Amino acid sequence: MPKLITDTTLAGRIAVVTGASSGIGEATARRLAARGAKVALLARRADRLEALTAEIEQAGGTAIVLAVDVTDAEAVRAAAERIERDLGTVDLLVNNAGVMLPAPIEELRTDQWQRQIDLNITGLMNVIGAFVPQLVTAGTERGVADLVNLSSIAAKNIFPNFAVYSATKAYVTQLSRHLRAELGEKHVRVSAIEPGMTHSELHDHVTDQGVQEWTAGIHDIMLHSEDIAESIVFTTSLPPRVNLQQITIMPTGQPA
Ligand code: NDP
Repeated sequence: MPKLITDTTLAGRIAVVTGASSGIGEATARRLAARGAKVALLARRADRLEALTAEIEQAGGTAIVLAVDVTDAEAVRAAAERIERDLGTVDLLVNNAGVMLPAPIEELRTDQWQRQIDLNITGLMNVIGAFVPQLVTAGTERGVADLVNLSSIAAKNIFPNFAVYSATKAYVTQLSRHLRAELGEKHVRVSAIEPGMTHSELHDHVTDQGVQEWTAGIHDIMLHSEDIAESIVFTTSLPPRVNLQQITIMPTGQPA
């Protein structure tokens, strides 16, 4: 039996989490709901989202499921309309769905390059396009709204074989800095979260053997998805005047 909700720090907030079916997104949705936010869960695997919804509802929270591929702009727009109708105007967006497929550039894995660009950049923009109007409305009416984008330490640090993934995350960090400057006066805070290596399903999709071995070597020191989720809850719970622009979260034992 999940613990009943007693901390209502985020009560009244209407949150959306993309990539809520596993890893950081799932942990974040669970924690936002545990602080009283109503949460809309987006990802492709409906069964996983249904299970999380049942868990949240058993604890006394509110969640709805939207089985959506975020690379489909029209589907994301339709989801945004349904969320506004069913839960209310969204004031907290965690733009988290992403994929990491490192490989030596000379292998010319153009399929993997495209998947990363399609999800980490185009998918991210589809979500921003669908929800920014609601965030601005909420910011203006309620005095605060949050756009949290999942970047990575790869946005700045240099890792051989991670060029395409790193470039997509550099895009996310730079975009977030610009959007913060643009949307701040509308009371929308924008944050880029830059985690180091974190336990999740992200690493299960990696096909490069060298990277698989590296990941296995640091398995014991990696962050947990809940660590990132807790940072997102902290960021979005701060007084409206405070905008954490970038948060870099390293495993204590990961040098770079
Ligand atoms: P996971 O693989 O566990 O989660 C990825 C999530 O994205 C899943 O819920 C998946 O759900 C969803 N997703 C994938 N493709 C789509 C799609 N087309 N449409 C909708 N949802 C999709 O990885 P993490 O939790 O680790 O990753 C979350 C974010 O954190 C990513 O942006 C990642 O780059 C970033 N990050 C992760 C780090 C790590 O070490 N784990 C480090 C730094 C950053 P489904 O398959 O059901 O659609």
